[in-house]
Amino acid sequence: MHTPSPSPSIGFIGLGAMGHPMAARIVSGRYSLAVTDADPARIAECVQETGATACSSPAEVAARSDILITMLPSSAVVKTVLFGSDDALAHLKHGAVILEMSSGVPNMTREFAQLAAERSILMMDAPVSGGVARARSGELAIMVGGPDEGFSNSKPVLQAMGSSIIRTGSIGTAHAMKALNNLVSAGGFLIGIEALLIGQKFGLDPSLMVDVLNVSTGMNNSTQKKFKQFVLSRRFDAGFGLDLMVKDLGIALGVANATDTPVPFAGLCLDLWASAQKVLGRGQDHTAVARFAELLAGIELNDEQSTGAKA
Ligand code: NAD
Repeated sequence: MHTPSPSPSIGFIGLGAMGHPMAARIVSGRYSLAVTDADPARIAECVQETGATACSSPAEVAARSDILITMLPSSAVVKTVLFGSDDALAHLKHGAVILEMSSGVPNMTREFAQLAAERSILMMDAPVSGGVARARSGELAIMVGGPDEGFSNSKPVLQAMGSSIIRTGSIGTAHAMKALNNLVSAGGFLIGIEALLIGQKFGLDPSLMVDVLNVSTGMNNSTQKKFKQFVLSRRFDAGFGLDLMVKDLGIALGVANATDTPVPFAGLCLDLWASAQKVLGRGQDHTAVARFAELLAGIELNDEQSTGAKA
């Protein structure tokens, strides 16, 4: 079986909000990198910034890769790229490794891995958490499912992109873990926003509330890194799409169904995020879900530093 050289050639498909900075980290790690995307402008931007080699198709990237990374919107898109008309899989060398770093559907990933194994290609699911800022700094959390051989062959490349690399078990477990992480994140975001709305109506200042939460037990990633930065500022541009969050919540609920786990709270969480997507329209940042909660509450969160309860 072909074993990747000490400095394997890397291919990267999907140069979006996350893929572009992750690709830049790989080049900084002195790996040779070939890239492509469905959007030629994304390829041009990435090549200009990183010096990576531009390819016109996933198949061309695959032909140059010992390790092929996919960072795409969904498992459906990964399927098209690897097995559809692009048929990137057919162009990979035997013994190559696919790192499926998108947030995907565990059972689909397992099917892909099976098809890859039939051609002596190792597939790992390696989704990430940390958002665009940590993608840029190379400090992503990376969950990794799949065989040990694929992990040892790809670990140095993963370390170029992430600072916490965590093995989750067999193929598909990392995609399940990623969806469950986002379930917790989505729930924490929405309950926090609802608390701010209640507080503002009562006479509390939302900004002050965030300060209190952040030194109290109600603190979470959203109170620390999203509420002031992207909601109270009215910027709504964290870089992670609302559509992608709804997809991830659907995956988490799919895992719940497949495991016969009754999760009414999680179900309501998905319903609310999906309703926000319908009301606000597609293409929003995920932090814009706060605007949906504001619509329900009939007020807009303000950013005044007023203190003291009115009621
Ligand atoms: P994005 O929409 O910004 O980028 C996706 C890229 O894939 C785009 O550049 C698009 O042109 C490209 N693409 C789509 N179809 C393609 C095809 N058939 N062939 C080649 N390229 C194609 O998305 P993103 O925010 O970078 O997220 C990518 C993945 O990472 C998703 O699965 C998402 O859930 C996950 N994720 C995102 C974040 C975040 O903060 N944005 C964090 C963790 C995980």
